[in-house]
Amino acid sequence: MTISIMNERTQVLLRSLPAMEIMLSDPRNVSHLKSVNRDLLKNMCSSVLDEFRRSILEGERISFDEDELFGELDRRILAVARPSLVPVVNGTGVVVHTNLGRSCLAPEAASVVDLVSRRYDTLEYDLEAGERGHRNSHVEGLLCCLTGAEAAVVVNNNAGAVLLCLAALGSGKSAMVSRGELVEIGGSFRIPDIMAFSGVRLVEVGATNRTHLRDYERALEYDTSMVMKVHPSNFRILGFHSEVSREELARLSHERDLIFMEDLGSGILVDLEPLGLAGEPTVAQCLEAGVDLVTFSGDKLLGGPQIGGIVGRKALVDRIRTHPLLRALRCDKMTLAAFEATLRIYLRGEWRKIPTLDMLARSPEAIRERCDRLAAALASVVASDGQVSVTEVQDAVGGGAFPATDMLGYAVAVRVGSCSAGRLQERLRACATPVIAGARDDTLLIHGRTLLADDDERVVRAFTLLVEEGWS
Ligand SMILES: *Cc1c(COP(=O)(O)O)cnc(C)c1O
Repeated sequence: MTISIMNERTQVLLRSLPAMEIMLSDPRNVSHLKSVNRDLLKNMCSSVLDEFRRSILEGERISFDEDELFGELDRRILAVARPSLVPVVNGTGVVVHTNLGRSCLAPEAASVVDLVSRRYDTLEYDLEAGERGHRNSHVEGLLCCLTGAEAAVVVNNNAGAVLLCLAALGSGKSAMVSRGELVEIGGSFRIPDIMAFSGVRLVEVGATNRTHLRDYERALEYDTSMVMKVHPSNFRILGFHSEVSREELARLSHERDLIFMEDLGSGILVDLEPLGLAGEPTVAQCLEAGVDLVTFSGDKLLGGPQIGGIVGRKALVDRIRTHPLLRALRCDKMTLAAFEATLRIYLRGEWRKIPTLDMLARSPEAIRERCDRLAAALASVVASDGQVSVTEVQDAVGGGAFPATDMLGYAVAVRVGSCSAGRLQERLRACATPVIAGARDDTLLIHGRTLLADDDERVVRAFTLLVEEGWS
């Protein structure tokens, strides 16, 4: 479109847009300069003006006032200036909630992170020798103590740990995996893809629901170097099902000079059977059963930071230590500090101090009492606008472990006449500390199991705000 055929109204509208410098020096921008620097503010003013100019020229905008212009600028500044990775209240009852950051660190682990991140430290420094040390050394001895392993290394996460083990020990050869374990784990981690990427040829063994020792024996090929066992994560085969025990696979592997590795997924360090969580072995139990190398996550049931642990035979771990991928997958100092502090809690036998394990260990009675207290506080906030009660719910472990195990828990149930449960969830997500809640039968549910120490107050504050602002 050229100026000559532009109608008069369009020209008037265009002329009424402020010049960039005028817009920039408007008093309404003073507060914006606390959120974004001057250059960025200038770019944003200019892009908002461009946008308005374009919509006028294309006839989409037939009127204009300055409030609209500054409203758009406000929205854009808020979108970049508002913190994005923020704490939330987990009211879902899913303990290892992958979308909500999986595990919460124990306070003493978090304070070591704070300390180490602000100061110089011994990350790769050997104080005794006064020379270069190894970052892995801070946790290797602890992992060996807690799992009975001969050696250990850690990397960025368990996906990286599996990739590294396969690349360092099996590249150019083949590895056998049961068809029942060729799973995809949330976030598109697929065993066949990881194997292909690390240069290991996959040999599938048995059938999806049943795999026997003879299947492994028959599948052996000239270049087979590994037997890999994979935790099936959320996937469970029920009914007509069989798999080969670790002991049998270890015997076969060692007779045939193969490496027996297991991707354990969650990786627990203490037996959770006393908590009613049976059927998942500890890392130590896997090694005892004859697995040569076990990999696991640090931030699932272990309750530490995101990390990938590799523990097992020294000769194998030593081969991994020198692989170039280790450098690419190494952990940063904050992670290592948090992991070391978490392992020390286990060393002292104080695992109840690990929030993830504490949440799993909470008794239904204790959760009920807590929900009763929170419900009483919420009832006085909600008053006659709705009903607050306490109801029985099923909580979940999460993180792919114990998928078939439901844990009895309690939740505070909230119904507000003028506001659906879905809308309540949405409003709670928009609070300063967002509250992530569940819902059932158009009733909002705040599960007590996953609430941390002062979360009750946060929930009460969130509801107080909703009452003040009006429910809808
Ligand atoms: C969770 C999981 C992974 C991925 O671990 P990350 O620490 O998230 O990388 C791999 N394998 C299994 C069996 C898992 O459960």
